[in-house]
Amino acid sequence: MRITLGELERHRIVISKTYAPGTLDYHGVDFRQATPLKVDAVAELMGSEILIRGRLATRLEACCDRCLGSVAIPIKQEFDLFYRPVSTIAREEEIELPEDELGVGFFSGDGIELADVVTEQVILSVPMKVICQTDCRGLCPLCGANLNFAKCACLPAKVGSPFSSLNKG
Ligand SMILES: [Zn+2]
Ligand SMILES: [Zn+2]
Repeated sequence: MRITLGELERHRIVISKTYAPGTLDYHGVDFRQATPLKVDAVAELMGSEILIRGRLATRLEACCDRCLGSVAIPIKQEFDLFYRPVSTIAREEEIELPEDELGVGFFSGDGIELADVVTEQVILSVPMKVICQTDCRGLCPLCGANLNFAKCACLPAKVGSPFSSLNKG
């Protein structure tokens, strides 16, 4: 779905759309969309800027950084975004956006793709570190056993190593 200036000049656009898993391109990031993504938003024109406000919800599936187990990541994201025409950058040379203008993006041509807005918001809301549980024990570096489920035979060999105190508890 494309949000075009032409349509916004006539009226604001009320968006209610669902993207099935596999229909959005997340640019190769390390997660999978597990459930349909629902987005409800309103787009309107503010001068030459496109304002999009709304919320989206879905559930992602990623791998735990420590044990590689599957982790469900519920996403509930509200957004309030401004998109400026790219041409304004050329006009105001060396424009520096203040830190609090992180919600500002740019568009070129006749408008923006809703899918681009949605995928960007989803990627931004994924935590930097994905862990299945705060005390995930990870994998044994020697045999690869998942230490959340099994005590492997390698552990006694670590006793006395400089790291053994880290394994207490
Ligand atoms: Zn884990
Ligand atoms: Zn082991």
